Amino acid sequence: MIELTSITKSYKVGQDTLDVLKGISLTINEGEFVAIMGPSGSGKSTLMNVIGCLDNPTSGTYLLGDEDISTYKDEMLARVRNLSIGFVFQQFQLLPRLTALKNVELPMVYAGYKKKEREERAKQALEKVGLAERVNHLPNELSGGQKQRVAIARSIVNNPKIILADEPTGALDSKTSITIMEQFTQLNLEGTTVILVTHEQEVADYAKRIITVRDGIILSDVERRREV
Ligand code: ATP
Ligand code: MG
Repeated sequence: MIELTSITKSYKVGQDTLDVLKGISLTINEGEFVAIMGPSGSGKSTLMNVIGCLDNPTSGTYLLGDEDISTYKDEMLARVRNLSIGFVFQQFQLLPRLTALKNVELPMVYAGYKKKEREERAKQALEKVGLAERVNHLPNELSGGQKQRVAIARSIVNNPKIILADEPTGALDSKTSITIMEQFTQLNLEGTTVILVTHEQEVADYAKRIITVRDGIILSDVERRREV
């Protein structure tokens, strides 16, 4: 479903060009659960931004489903993004003045849903992550793990095929990380493709495939067998 071929990404910094992704070829099929690991600065977030249609690659092709989106510009890219992808970030990125419910409604505001349907779907999403009792709380009235669950509810509310999470447990203690990873596992079991970046082996162990990036290339790509 996701097919990257010879993807490069370079940034202009002053007079210099910084080559960050140096030829990434990668296929991720529907329903996979992938962890991306690698040292700081190796290009993981840059790769996630390309996969998530937040940024164009400098060269290479990106097939998402049957669309070649490598040449898409801002508006077209935003359309694909809104239709297909949910995002979860390390620092939750909730709007501080909006309740949990309103935060989860946001992607549907952009997608043009009516108020009543927005509310219903946002409530369902919050129920799904176990936060039915917290819909009217503001972000600063929630714990870290609860904030991240609101962010997960927000990421799934438009029923994306793919969830991208960049260090989703990076700001959480290990016990809370487990509850968050259980949420991703559940979503993956229901058919959502989950791709996450992590520095923590215990978090990566939830994935079925671990890709290691180093200095802008893929160093290893390993399918894991689940212990039963
Ligand atoms: P971390 O584990 O610390 O999050 P990362 O693997 O996610 O690291 P990236 O954020 O992808 O690393 O950054 C890779 C390199 O690209 C870094 O050296 C960074 O300085 C550079 N970089 C990232 N974004 C930009 C940008 N917009 N302009 C210029 N350089 C950038
Ligand atoms: Mg990063």
